[in-house]
Amino acid sequence: MINVASPIIGEREKKLVQDVLDSKILASGKYVAQFERSFAKYCGIDFGIANANGTTSLHTALLMLGIKPGDKVVTTPFTFIATSNSILFCGAKPIFVDIDPKTFNIDPIKLEEALKKGKNVKAVIIVHLYGLPCDMDAILKLKKKYKFKLIEDACQAHGAEFENKKVGSFGDAAVFSFYATKNMMTGEGGIVLTNDAKADKYGRQIINHGREGHFTHTALGYNFRLTNLAAAIGMAQLEQLENWIAKRIANAKKYNEAFKDLEFLKTPYVPENCRHVFHQYTVRVSSKERESFMKYLSDKGVGSGIYYSCVIYKQPLYKKLGYKSGLCKEAEKSTAEVVSLPVNPSLSIAEVDEVIKVVKGYKK
Ligand SMILES: *Cc1c(COP(=O)(O)O)cnc(C)c1O
Repeated sequence: MINVASPIIGEREKKLVQDVLDSKILASGKYVAQFERSFAKYCGIDFGIANANGTTSLHTALLMLGIKPGDKVVTTPFTFIATSNSILFCGAKPIFVDIDPKTFNIDPIKLEEALKKGKNVKAVIIVHLYGLPCDMDAILKLKKKYKFKLIEDACQAHGAEFENKKVGSFGDAAVFSFYATKNMMTGEGGIVLTNDAKADKYGRQIINHGREGHFTHTALGYNFRLTNLAAAIGMAQLEQLENWIAKRIANAKKYNEAFKDLEFLKTPYVPENCRHVFHQYTVRVSSKERESFMKYLSDKGVGSGIYYSCVIYKQPLYKKLGYKSGLCKEAEKSTAEVVSLPVNPSLSIAEVDEVIKVVKGYKK
């Protein structure tokens, strides 16, 4: 089976992990500090706070920016559930805004409508879905006009760029995940980035029981720390990230070229001013066709996935909170049409060619 996701673990990861094991410094340690600095620098940001995972990173970012119970926070419903659950963790209220069907990212025009209507929106969490940056020109204009805090959920977009600037460097804070199947990984892990020294200081308290100094706890905090073991893997992975991104982009380019004339399938759209890092290579097929297409792929040994099969507000948890179906038409339509194909850098040239052959063979 040619898999959609497959983590790459080489000698470098093993060597650095061995170094941590030998040192017996397993929890916080030098690799955590090094990884925070290195990843932040890679994105062009001053501070990085390593975190247990992407979900705790989102929670930390919202608290860092002062989100309180009852606050309104706008986000997209077409993302992993962690994005909006982090809003619930803070006692705040998620407001869902529809996506642009071309990019799958939040639609800036609909975002402005929501900001006009919603009054006092404290924060907006945008998601650079599948590795494609949101329309940052439009979103930063809205930020200036409506004065909300901006958090980038860049959990799928390590190394993605909008007008040659890395995602994670546009908002008041940004969040990345290093879950096992992301573009780089630490098993479980995450990071929050910010240029604000005060927010960084408070964020460090949040992830470490609200501690200030050695014996004093001045805020309610959690244990959201990353381990030295995980950070060592992260250091090794970061060294290889650009190489892996280049492979993802090359694979996607081959697919785009090979699939451009297929009538039953629509290839991903990449605006000219964006570097899409293809965490997922996601195509659209008709909702009637999707199941049979995926079954055909699987029968031919090609894995595929659906991200995401349900908008967040239609999940039972959110229905109980009072959200109704029909809120975001384009997002709902997308949940029925998207299919992600294997694009990861562990694929051989022969495997990429096999995916192409199989996909083109559908309906022949
Ligand atoms: C993976 C992911 C998260 C959560 O990250 P975890 O490390 O799994 O907690 C949040 N948002 C998006 C868009 C993700 O893809």
